[in-house]
Amino acid sequence: LYHAKTNGKSRWSFFSEEMHAEATATKRMVSDLLLACEKREFVPHFQPIVDAVSGRMAGAEVLVRWAHPKMGLLPPEAFLDTAATMGILKRVDAVTFEALPEILGRLEAAGIELPRISINVSAGRLADPTLIHDIKKSGISPKRLAIEILESVYLDRIGDLVDWTLGELKELGATIALDDFGTGHASVQSLLKIKPAVLKIDRQFIQPIVEDETSRALVASMIGIGKSLGMSIIAEGVETEAHARHAAQMGCDYLQGYHFGRPMPAAELQDMLAKTNG
Ligand code: C2E
Ligand code: CA
Ligand code: CA
Ligand code: CA
Repeated sequence: LYHAKTNGKSRWSFFSEEMHAEATATKRMVSDLLLACEKREFVPHFQPIVDAVSGRMAGAEVLVRWAHPKMGLLPPEAFLDTAATMGILKRVDAVTFEALPEILGRLEAAGIELPRISINVSAGRLADPTLIHDIKKSGISPKRLAIEILESVYLDRIGDLVDWTLGELKELGATIALDDFGTGHASVQSLLKIKPAVLKIDRQFIQPIVEDETSRALVASMIGIGKSLGMSIIAEGVETEAHARHAAQMGCDYLQGYHFGRPMPAAELQDMLAKTNG
C-alpha cells in the first residue's frame, strides 16, 4: 500500500506487483527445492516416542529439516506448503526416506535399535505406488514402520490410490497412524475409512488437560473411541511432567513431546541414548 500511495500507482497495479513478487518467490523456492532433492539436502531429525508405562523409548518420529545452503536449517513450515501445492512434497518425502537406511544402520552399529520408526507421508506420496517399492527396497522391515497420515489425505480426491497404498502397507505389516487426531473436520469418518492401528492425539487437546476439565473430557472420549476400536494412543505435545502424568493416567499408551526430547539429528539421539543406557 505504501508503494501504491507514494508512486501514485493504482491498487490494481499494486496487487499485481505483489502477486508477481509472490509468484517469483514461489518459482525460486520450487527450483531450490528441486535442486535440494538432487543434492540430498533434507536431513531427517528424530523425536523420541516413549512408552507411557515403562518410560522406555518405543521409537522415534522422523521429522524433516532442510539444510538450506544459504538460510541454514529450515523447519518444515518454511517449505512444506509450497512443496505440497507445487506437487513436489512427494519427492521431498521420497528423498527423506532414502536417507533412513544408512542413518539407522549407523545407529544400529552403535548398539541403538529403534523398535519403531514413524514417518510422515503426504497425500501425494500415498497416492504414489513407488512408496511401496521404495519401502521394499529400503531393507527396513515394514513391521518397524509406522506411517503417519493426516485425515486431510481424503480431501485430495485421490481416495482410490490412497486406499490401494494403505492396503499394501497393512499387508506388508506396517502400522498406520492417524496424525493430529481431533483437528480435522472428518475425524470420525477418517477413522472408519483409514482404520488406523494408532491414534495420535494433537497437542492442542493434550496440553490443557492439567487444568481444563473440558479438554480432559475430550481426550478421555478420544481415548475411549480409540481403545474400543483396538487402537493404541499416542499423546502429542507432552511438554511437562504434569502433561506426561495426566496423559499416562488417562490411558495413553505412548507419549511424545519436548519433555522427552525435541526432534534431533541422529547423532544427538545416539548421545542421548548412550547417556540414559549407561
Ligand atoms: P506433526 O507430524 O504433527 O509433527 C509434530 C510437530 O510438533 C513437529 O513439528 C514437532 O517438532 C512438534 N513438536 C513435538 N513435540 C512438541 C512439543 O512438546 N511442543 C510443541 N509445541 N511442539 C512439539 P515440525 O518438526 O516443525 O513439523 C511440523 C509438521 O510438518 C509435522 O507435524 C508434519 O505434519 C510435517 N512434517 C514434518 N516432517 C515431514 C516429512 O518428512 N514429510 C511430510 N510430508 N510432512 C512432514
Ligand atoms: Ca506426525
Ligand atoms: Ca501430529
Ligand atoms: Ca501437526
